[in-house]
Formats: sequence, structure tokens, C-alpha cells
Amino acid sequence: MSDQVLVLGGTGEARRLAAALLADGVDVLSSLAGRVADPVLPEGPVRIGGFGGADGLAAWLAEHAPRAVVDATHPFAARITAHAAQAAAVHGTPLLRLQRPGWTAQPGDSWRRVDSLAAAAEAVTGYRSVFLTTGRQGIGAFAALPGRVLVRSVDPPDEPLPAGATLLLDRGPFSVADELALMGEHAVDVVVTKDSGGHLTEAKLTAARELGIPVVLVRRPPLPAGVETVATVEEALDWLRLRPPAAGGRPRR
Ligand code: NAP
Repeated sequence: MSDQVLVLGGTGEARRLAAALLADGVDVLSSLAGRVADPVLPEGPVRIGGFGGADGLAAWLAEHAPRAVVDATHPFAARITAHAAQAAAVHGTPLLRLQRPGWTAQPGDSWRRVDSLAAAAEAVTGYRSVFLTTGRQGIGAFAALPGRVLVRSVDPPDEPLPAGATLLLDRGPFSVADELALMGEHAVDVVVTKDSGGHLTEAKLTAARELGIPVVLVRRPPLPAGVETVATVEEALDWLRLRPPAAGGRPRR
């Protein structure tokens, strides 16, 4: 077993975890999928690209033998989370899921929760000006929407967009003032989002509340059974402190 901790990333939490581990002198390697053209990189060593499915990740774990894996990927990155659970079980690697809590409705919110992007598309069919903030993956579910659709994503979607779409390429964090201005400019009358949670992209929810606009939230995919899960970077650090490097493990690079 090596002293290394593998952090499966692509989120702000993963970056904060990597930075905190580096500061503690931990041998950390962050892994990114390589989906975004210009990713925000974590501090410290980074590998980029898929592992080749659950089998590929199991082979990677067998070769590199990290002392632990923290799956800090996005709440909607269900495939890599499932692969991590399978691969860690095969190889007997301690695995922690770090997943921030979903959003909670506040007084004044008008939220409707749905199970899928397809159900979200159905839920907003009668609206005149939809603000889609679900990211580029799966955006094709909304392709048949009539009316105006403001689509915001980090990179251009490669799936068909609705006929009345305006594409806005932008990356959070967004301020409430900016969200209010954007929604006003486009006369948005409904917002669609995944229940991603976290502070970086929650301004749209505050803006929707202030404007009295409804929000359709796509529920998260379920977590794999039997994987220990925490909600904060601090809890993940505590979990790792309980699993120190083995005495005589490989020296830190
Ligand atoms: P996904 O559907 O769960 O995973 C698809 C494939 O991408 C996986 O099978 C794996 O390829 C590769 N992959 C995903 N995350 C990886 C990582 N951290 N390191 C190495 N390979 C990874 O994932 P996704 O929804 O496409 O998300 C991709 C990345 O973007 C994730 O890192 C996630 O944290 C981040 N992200 C996703 C969302 C979202 O809404 N889904 C939002 C913000 C950020 P192999 O099978 O070849 O190993």
C-alpha cells in the first residue's frame, strides 16, 4: 500500500480537500474526467481522463495501491461514483463518498422536484421563457421545448438545443444581483436546475425567490449502498486522519 490518497474530483469540495491534504503534508493525487475544456485545477498533482470503467479503476487501484479513495465528484456524476464503489470493493481500498447536501426550500420558494431531465422538460412545457441551468449533459431532453429557452453551461452542449434557445457560456460562482439582472433581461418565468447543492450556484434560487418565479429541481441519483458518506471537507479530513499511512509505507513524493 502507498501513502497516497486518491481524490476523485471535479467539484469545489474536491479542490478544497486536495488543498487541505497538501497543507497537512499528505500525498494526494486529484483525478479529473477531462470533460471541461478549461478546468479549474486543484492544487497539487493531478491526473486527467477516465480510468476505463470500473475494471479500469480497479486495475489502477491494484497498480497504485492508494491508502484511501475519496469520491468527491459531483452529486450527479453517478457513473464514476458507482465505478468507485465497485472498484474499491474489488480491491479492498477504503472509500469515502464526500457529497455536499442538496438545497432546502426557504419560505417564499415555489419548487417542484422531479426525477429526471425528461420529467423537468415536461414540467416546464407551458412556460414562455425557461432558464435551463442543468449543464450541457442531457440537455437534449429539452430539445422539443417551445418558446424562449436560456441555456447556460460552461462548455457548448453537443446535444440539440430547443429552437428558441439562447446559449450563454459561463461558469459560476454567480451573484444574486447578476442572476436577477439576467432573469429580468430574458423575462425568465421558470428556472430548471439539478439539486446540485452548495453555495457556488445557489444565487439563481435566491433570485427566483425574489422574483416569485418557480423552480424545477431534478432529484439526485441514489448513492451506492454500503459506502460511507460525509457532507463536508472537514468530515472527510477527519475520516482520513483515522486511516493514517501504514508505518514503513512508501515515502512521500
Ligand atoms: P459520470 O457520468 O459519473 O462519469 C462518466 C465517466 O467519466 C466515468 O465513467 C469516468 O470514465 C469518467 N470520470 C468521471 N469523473 C471522473 C474523475 N473525477 N476522474 C476520472 N474519470 C472520471 O461523470 P460526469 O457527470 O460526466 O462528470 C464528469 C466530471 O465532471 C466529474 O469529475 C464530476 O465531478 C464533474 N462535474 C459533473 C457535473 C454533473 O452535473 N454531472 C457537474 C459539475 C462537475 P471511465 O469510466 O473511463 O473511468
